[in-house]
Amino acid sequence: MCSSALSPIVQNGTFFNNSIAPQIGYRDERELSDRNDRRKYGLGEKDLMPKLERNCTVHCADTYLDAASDWTEVDTVISTVPDQIAIAPGSLLKEWTENGRRYFHYRVDRASMNFYSFMSASYQVAREEWNGIRLEVYHHPEHHWNVPRMMQSMKKSLDYFTRNFGPYYHKQARIIEFPRVAQFAQAFPGTMPYSESIGFVADLRDPEKIDHVFYVVAHEMGHQWWAHQVIGANMQGATLLSETLAQYSALMVMEKEYGRDQMRKFLEYEMDRYLRARGRERLQERPLLTVESEQGYTHYNKGSVVLYHLKETIGEQAVNRALRNIVSKWAYQGPPYPTSYVLLDALRAETPAEYQPLLRDLFEEITLFSNRSLEATARKLPDGKYQVTVKAESKKFKADRQGAEQEVPVDDWIEFAAFAKPDKGKKYGKTLHRERVHVRQAQVTNTFTVSELPDRAGIDPFHLLIDRTPDDNSKSVDLKN
Ligand SMILES: [Zn+2]
Repeated sequence: MCSSALSPIVQNGTFFNNSIAPQIGYRDERELSDRNDRRKYGLGEKDLMPKLERNCTVHCADTYLDAASDWTEVDTVISTVPDQIAIAPGSLLKEWTENGRRYFHYRVDRASMNFYSFMSASYQVAREEWNGIRLEVYHHPEHHWNVPRMMQSMKKSLDYFTRNFGPYYHKQARIIEFPRVAQFAQAFPGTMPYSESIGFVADLRDPEKIDHVFYVVAHEMGHQWWAHQVIGANMQGATLLSETLAQYSALMVMEKEYGRDQMRKFLEYEMDRYLRARGRERLQERPLLTVESEQGYTHYNKGSVVLYHLKETIGEQAVNRALRNIVSKWAYQGPPYPTSYVLLDALRAETPAEYQPLLRDLFEEITLFSNRSLEATARKLPDGKYQVTVKAESKKFKADRQGAEQEVPVDDWIEFAAFAKPDKGKKYGKTLHRERVHVRQAQVTNTFTVSELPDRAGIDPFHLLIDRTPDDNSKSVDLKN
């Protein structure tokens, strides 16, 4: 759920969502949002989300996606021309032909968010099954290249999420192609429309590049838990429970697929997007706990790095226990809806005392580092191994909402690592050593032994910490004897 849908009806296909149906109540998303338009009509600044409250009443009565409905049953009879397939939410109960049109009857397997798509086109359908759940990819017949990757990502996501978070309640999971009139993928209950341009015709032949298709499918599958089972109340921090947790979920599927040492590709990408976007912020940057739903650079990009860092610190099982507890308490529950405190409290309960201050850094404040390696040297030992010494500098800052930064003392667990020379055509060499060190001062020296000739070494080379200049964290190693 990353963008709102256009509602195109074209010659060989149609895509619209539930916003075409009558909607009840006041819809503030329909207000003029352009600043110049608002000024022209004498309107003030558009209201931001209600402030985060721990003991909320009125604002927890609604979800941030829809103020006028809770969990909704949808039963659809939809018809289309004979050479197209029409798709509505839920299981297909019946299909027939009448008066020269093709009819379909669908019903959702479980009351869901009031957030649906309806599509019809001349599709080819790839079908597989995972533990009794029908997996379907509806695509333009010529756009078949990435369909197997999408199927793989759906299966691996279902496998990880059902084992770690809780059950999947739909009898099907569908990815449905739409043309490049818009560029997004979006999760509706059990159904994920996906633009051809960012998925079906993406060129995935370079194995060194991030497999965005796999990543995006895993993110949208993550929403089947984070938004479509647990949905935040209508206040600041709501998207921490949906977008940030969908990002974390996707990262864990990627880690299982590509390996822990490859995760810096994703973390570098997310960090770069966060750092560039926060410089362009026109409102106020907010900590994750009180993020506004429009601040994607915080809930997607910073959120990915923060949750992954926490997982590296307290462990995958601890983070997932917290998430499983949230699902078992809040999935498909009516009002009051949960706030971002629900996530923070669940993580706090799983975080050992020595790491508790990290939660404030990650969620309640805006924390940045400037870590860099000053010198990396190695010495060959008599037994053929190498002793590596990294001299590094670590500075820590707190930013206020206007972006002013103040240096604070560093007292953090930070990784040091060394790498072998990359194979030809590869960006990263094999990891020779990886260790977390409790850093309590800006100048830090760390020494360790590796079994092969190291090529690069440094401080936080995997980019677990938000770092103002991530590029200077590792250096090539000077061999001294
Ligand atoms: Zn999303």
